[in-house]
Amino acid sequence: MTYACGHVSVSHKHAWLCLALLLTGCRERKPHQAAKAADPITLPPVTLSEAGDKANGVILVTVDTLRADYLSCYGHTRILTPSFDRFASMGVMFRNTFSQASTTTPSHSSIMTSLYLQDHNVYSNFEALGDGPTTIAETFKAAGYGTYALVNMSHLNPEVGNLAQGFQHFVRSANMRRASASFDDLLKWIGDQNGKPFFAWVHLADVHTPYRPPPPYDRFYYDEDEHDPNETSMAKIWPTLPKEMSDHPSFQAWLSGITDLDFVLAQYQGAVTYVDDEFGRLLDALESQKLLSRTAVVVTADHGESLGEHGMYFVHTGLYDSTTHIPLLAWFPGDGRHGVQVRDIVESVDILPTVLEYIGLLPPEGIRGRSLWPLIRGGSLPAKTAFMEHAGRSLVGLRSDRYAYLKHLRNSYIQPSYPFTRDREELYDIQEDPHQLRDLSKDRQDLIAQFRAELERRRHGKLDFAPGKAEVTPETTDVLRSLGYVQ
Ligand SMILES: [Zn+2]
Repeated sequence: MTYACGHVSVSHKHAWLCLALLLTGCRERKPHQAAKAADPITLPPVTLSEAGDKANGVILVTVDTLRADYLSCYGHTRILTPSFDRFASMGVMFRNTFSQASTTTPSHSSIMTSLYLQDHNVYSNFEALGDGPTTIAETFKAAGYGTYALVNMSHLNPEVGNLAQGFQHFVRSANMRRASASFDDLLKWIGDQNGKPFFAWVHLADVHTPYRPPPPYDRFYYDEDEHDPNETSMAKIWPTLPKEMSDHPSFQAWLSGITDLDFVLAQYQGAVTYVDDEFGRLLDALESQKLLSRTAVVVTADHGESLGEHGMYFVHTGLYDSTTHIPLLAWFPGDGRHGVQVRDIVESVDILPTVLEYIGLLPPEGIRGRSLWPLIRGGSLPAKTAFMEHAGRSLVGLRSDRYAYLKHLRNSYIQPSYPFTRDREELYDIQEDPHQLRDLSKDRQDLIAQFRAELERRRHGKLDFAPGKAEVTPETTDVLRSLGYVQ
C-alpha cells in the first residue's frame, strides 16, 4: 500500500502511520523543537478477538532512550506515534513511570531484577550485574518457559553487562541492526516455539545517538537544508557536549557539516516514529498469526534523553524528568482491561512483579518493586516516591507526584552544561514548574528535610549484591566513548 504525503511517498506493510499522516494532514514545516505538555489524544477503544485465557507468552520491549513525552499518547502534539497510541488504547498506560537510572546497563539491571542500583551495584555501562540477584528471565526459565533476548548495544552483550542470565537464546548486538530486523528475528523465534510458553526481551537502539532513522523517517519532520551556511544553531551546541563524545570520529562523522539543530532534533523525532511504525508491524504480525490474544506485551524505555533541557543535548546526563520519565505500556490479554490509564507514580522495578503476577509466578524474595495489578484493576496502592541513582554514584533523585528532589554526591565535570557539585541539592515543583527551571531548595527547607529523611530510609537496608565482572573490550570502550559514556 502506498500513500503520497507531501513530497514523500511511503510504502508500508501496514496502514497505521499512513492513516495518521492523512488524518493529520501530513507534517508541518520544521514542526518541533521541544516537548509540549498537552492532554493525551483520546482514542476509541480497540476491539480485539480475545481467547479469554491468559497469555502463555510475554514480550518485553525496551526502547533505549525513548522519552515518554515524545509519544502522542503521552501528550506530544506533533510527533506521530499511532501504533503506540493504538497499543495504549488496547491495554494499560502508566502515565507517570520513572526509570531507576539514566544509563543503559544500570537501568536494565533494575528492570530485570526489580532492584535499585544500590542493591545490584551496577553503576555504569562498563559494569556487570552479579550472579546473586535472580532475574525475571531466570524465573521464567525455572518455570519451564523458553527464553529469548536480542540486544542492540555491545555493552548489553553477555560478557559485558552479564544480563544474559536466564536467557537460553541470546542474540548479540550487531552493527546498525534496526527495529525491523530485530522484530523479524523475534517473530521467527516465536514461530519456532510452536506454541510453547516463552519470555522474550527485545532491546532497540534506534532512538539512541547517533539518531539515524531510515528514509523516509529522516525527512518526516524536516524538509530544509541541514547544511545551510546561513544557519548557525548547531554552533552553540558543540561546546555543551562531553569532549570525549564531540571529539570522537564517529560522532564527528555524524554531525560535522550540519548547521541546523532542528535537523538533528528531527532525526530523534523521526526515529521515534520509525520505531512506532515497526512496533505496529509487530502487533499486526502477532494478530495475523493469532498470537496477540495469548501474548502479553510490555513496552518501556531504560531512560529518556536531553534534547536541550538544562543546556544538554544528545545525552541523558542527570535525573531530570527528560531523562527519567519513560513510557510504560502493557497489553495483558484475558484480563478484560482495555484503555486503562494509571496516573500513580510507578517505577521500572515494578515491571517484574506485575508481569509475574499476571502469569502466576512468584517473584524472587527481596525485590524492590510491587505488583501494579491493584492499580490496573482500578483500585489503589499507597503513594510511592520513585528512587533514581545516577551513573558513577554522582547523583540521587526522588520523584513524588508533586516534587522532584536531587542530591549531588560528588564533584564531576564530564558534562560541561551540568557539572555535579558535591552536596548540592535541587528541588522542583512539577505542578508549577514542569520543566524544572526554578530550584526551590533554598526556599523550601521543610520539603528538603522530608526528602533527606526519605533518602536515608531508602539507603538503609540496601541489599548490596556483589557486582559481576565485566569484560570490556577496547572496541566496546571506543563505542561507549562515542556515545558520551566515560569512566
Ligand atoms: Zn540506554
